[in-house]
Amino acid sequence: MEEEKPEFSNGRVLLVEDDFVNGKIISRLLEMDNIPTHWVKNGREALDFCQENKECVLMVFMDLQMPIIDGYQATVALRKNGFNRPIIAMTANAFSDDHVKSAEAGMDDFIMKPVSKMELFMMVEKWMKRERKK
Ligand SMILES: [Mg+2]
Repeated sequence: MEEEKPEFSNGRVLLVEDDFVNGKIISRLLEMDNIPTHWVKNGREALDFCQENKECVLMVFMDLQMPIIDGYQATVALRKNGFNRPIIAMTANAFSDDHVKSAEAGMDDFIMKPVSKMELFMMVEKWMKRERKK
């Protein structure tokens, strides 16, 4: 069963979330599944982190509503800079066009908040598998 698990080696998941409680919970849930996680608080910090740690960001969980640089702007900028790893949008707003707008901005998938441990893990597994097949 060992090879069924996502492989990380030096890589990590980047969590971009401005809300302290959500960030704390989501990073904790990921780490409970042994998924190495780095948490930043807005799009500006995400861009800086990806710039400085190009190879080690394997995928991104991106909140949409954030101060300074929001999730849409951050994604557009990341894609423009050549970042081609999976970016998963996170939204709390079920009845919006967030999923359309996030896809337009260059995000690959979409998850509803509050997220469950299972949903997070399945999302990581789904996208890490695709990355490995590339
Ligand atoms: Mg937010």
